[in-house]
Amino acid sequence: MSILKQPVISLSGIGAQTANRLEKLGLRTLQDLVFHLPHRYEDRTRVYRMGDLVVGMTALVCGKVEFVDILPRGRKSLVCKISDGSGALMLRFFHFSANQHTLFKPDTWLCVFAEVRYGMAGLEMVHPDYTVISGPEAAVVETRLTPVYPLTEGLSQSVIRKAVKQALQHCQQQPHLLADAVPAEILQAYGYPPLAEAIQTLHAPDESVTVEALQNGTVPALKRLAFEELLAHHLRLCTLKHQARAWQAPVFSEEARLTAQFLSTLPFALTGAQRRVLDEIVADCRQAKPMMRLVQGDVGSGKTIVAAYTALLAMAAGYQVALMAPTELLAEQHLRNFSAWFAEFAVQVGFLSGQSKGRARQAILQSLADGSVNLVIGTHALFQDTVQFQNLGLVIIDEQHRFGVHQRLALREKGQQAGCRPHQLVMTATPIPRTLAMLQYADLDISIIDELPPGRQPVVTRVIPSERRAEVIGRINEWVGKRRQVYWVCTLIEESEVLECQAAEKTAELLAQALPAVRVGLVHGRMKSAEKDAVMQAFKQHSLDLLVATTVIEVGVDVPNAGLMIIENPERLGLSQLHQLRGRVGRGEGESFCLLMYQAPLSETARQRLGILRDSNDGFVIAEKDLQLRGPGEVMGTRQTGAMQFKVADLQRDGELIAAIAQISSQLFTDSPEAIALLCDRWLGTETLYAEV
Ligand code: ADP
Ligand code: MG
Repeated sequence: MSILKQPVISLSGIGAQTANRLEKLGLRTLQDLVFHLPHRYEDRTRVYRMGDLVVGMTALVCGKVEFVDILPRGRKSLVCKISDGSGALMLRFFHFSANQHTLFKPDTWLCVFAEVRYGMAGLEMVHPDYTVISGPEAAVVETRLTPVYPLTEGLSQSVIRKAVKQALQHCQQQPHLLADAVPAEILQAYGYPPLAEAIQTLHAPDESVTVEALQNGTVPALKRLAFEELLAHHLRLCTLKHQARAWQAPVFSEEARLTAQFLSTLPFALTGAQRRVLDEIVADCRQAKPMMRLVQGDVGSGKTIVAAYTALLAMAAGYQVALMAPTELLAEQHLRNFSAWFAEFAVQVGFLSGQSKGRARQAILQSLADGSVNLVIGTHALFQDTVQFQNLGLVIIDEQHRFGVHQRLALREKGQQAGCRPHQLVMTATPIPRTLAMLQYADLDISIIDELPPGRQPVVTRVIPSERRAEVIGRINEWVGKRRQVYWVCTLIEESEVLECQAAEKTAELLAQALPAVRVGLVHGRMKSAEKDAVMQAFKQHSLDLLVATTVIEVGVDVPNAGLMIIENPERLGLSQLHQLRGRVGRGEGESFCLLMYQAPLSETARQRLGILRDSNDGFVIAEKDLQLRGPGEVMGTRQTGAMQFKVADLQRDGELIAAIAQISSQLFTDSPEAIALLCDRWLGTETLYAEV
C-alpha cells in the first residue's frame, strides 16, 4: 500500500483529537493532506516601510513601540503605536492579556503582519500576528509565500502546515508517489508542469510566484491542478454513467393505442419540442438499460405532460412509478393533475409526504409494497428507508435543482433489485449555463424542451420602487375587474420562515382592507397541508382573485388565468429564483405582467440584476448573465446541498478549461482507464458520496 494511504495519525505531532478535527475537513490520509490545497496566501517575504503602506494591503512591517495603552472607552481595547522612521502605525487588540501590555513596552521592536486599515488615528492593524524582535535587522522574513489552508474549529494554521509539510516530505523522497495520471501528451499540449511540481508549488510557492498571479489563476501549476480537479469530477460522473450500463432495467415498449388515447384527452397538441423529447425518452425506455435522462425546459415549457406520458409507458408495462416534487404544494398539484389524466386508465394513484402520518401512512406504505398503487406522488419522504416498492420501474424527479446532486445519486439505488434498476427521469427548469451543466450532469443524458406552447406572450416585467405601492394596488383592482387573477409574493430573508409567513399574513390583511371587492387568499409554508391545498384549489377554481403567498409558490404552481404578479423586495432573491417565480404567470393566452417592487435605495449590482430580468424572459440568458455578475457558487444556489465544492478550481476563473474536458475524459476511458481511478481517488478520494456498491 502506498505510504500516502496511511492515516494522518501516523504523522508526528498528530494525536487522536487532531486527527478527528482533520477528519471533519475530509482529511483522513496523507494523500488527503497533499491534496488539501491552500485557499489563499500571505506575503511575508518582504518588510514594508510604514511610509509605503496603503489601506487594504496585507503587509509585514517592523517598528519600535512608542506607547502602549488600554482604552476604556467603548469596547475596551489595547492600543500600541509603533514607528519605523518612515511612518507610524497603530495596533489594536480587542482581546488581550495583561502580559501583552508589559510585552509591548516602549522601545521594544515588533514585527507585525495584518491587513492595513484606516483607523481613528491614521493607519492601523487590528489583531495582527506579531513577534517581538531584537531590532529591525532581526525581522522574520519568509522566503516563500505563506499558505493559508481551509480550517475547522479547533485546528490552527500551524498544525495543518506542519502536517502537510510532513506528508509532502514523503512525496519528495519518493517521487513515484505523485506520478502523473494525466498522459504526458496532454500535459505537453497544454504546457502543464508535472503533478509533483505543481503540488509543491501550491503548498510552497517559490520566489517567482506572486500572490496576484495565484489569485488570477495564471500560475501554470495552479491551472494544471484546477484542470485536473475538474477532470476528476467529470470522470467520476462519467464512471457512474458507464457503471449504470451494467445494470438491467425493465423494457417499456410504447403501446400506441394507449398513448394515443392519452394524448386525445388533452386539450392541446404537444409542441414539436415535447414530441422530440418524448421520442428520446421512448427510445431510452425500450432498452433493457436504465434511462438516466435530464429534461431541461424553461418554466412553462410543459414538462409535466412529458412526465405523465413516461409514467404511462411504465405503468402499461406493469411497473410502478414514483414521482417526487420538492414541495408539498407542487406534489399536491401533480396528484390532482395526474389523477385526472389517468382517470380512465384504471391507474391507482397514491400520495406520500412528510405530513402523511399514522394510519394513512401505513396504508400507502402497504399498497406500495403489495403493488396495488401504480403511481405514487410525493415529496422526498418517498425515499425513506421504510418505503418499499413491489416493482418500481420508473423514478421521476421534478425540479431536481432543489434537491442537489447527492440526493439525486442516492435515489438511484431506490428500487434496485437483483441487478435491475428503475429508469430515471429528472426534470429541471433551472437552466444552468453549459459549462456548469457539463460538470454537474455528466452522468445524465440531456434533452431540452426549447419551445414554449403556442400563444404565449412574454411576461412584461417592470421594476418599480415600493413608494408606488398605492398605484400597484390600483392595478390589482383593474385586473380583477377583467376577471383575471393576481399573485402577490412576499419575500423575506430565507432563514426566517416565521417572519416571512407573518409578513404574508399582514400583507393579506392590508390588501383585503384596501381592496374590499377583491377575494383575497393566503398561502405560506407554515400552514397545514390540507389548508394550503384548499386555498390553492380555491385559487385554481377562481373563487379567489388575489393570492398572497410566500416563495412556497416558487416552483411548479400552474394557474393559467393568473396574469399579474407582484413581487415584493425582489432584490433579496436570486435571479433564477425570480425567474421561476415569474414563471407562474404568462402560462395562458393573453398578456401578463410581473412587477418587481423594490425597497429603495438599490445597490448598483441589484439594479443591474433586476434589469437583466426586466430585459429577458429566457432562463438561459438570465442564468448566463447571473453567472457573469455573481459567480457560479451563487448561481448554483447556496441552498443547493449538491452544489459542487472544489479545492482549487474556480468555475468563474477557470471556466475556459472545461471545454476540453469532455474530450479528454473520453480519451482516457479508451486509452488509459487506469488513470481514471487514480485521478478520482486523489481528488475525490475520501468523499464517499458518489460511491456505488
Ligand atoms: P413546466 O415546464 O414549467 O413544468 P407545465 O408542465 O406546468 O410547465 O406546463 C405549463 C402549462 O402549459 C400548463 O398549464 C400545461 O397544461 C400547459 N401546456 C403544456 N404543454 C402544452 C402544449 N403543448 N400546448 C398548450 N399548453 C400546454
Ligand atoms: Mg413543472
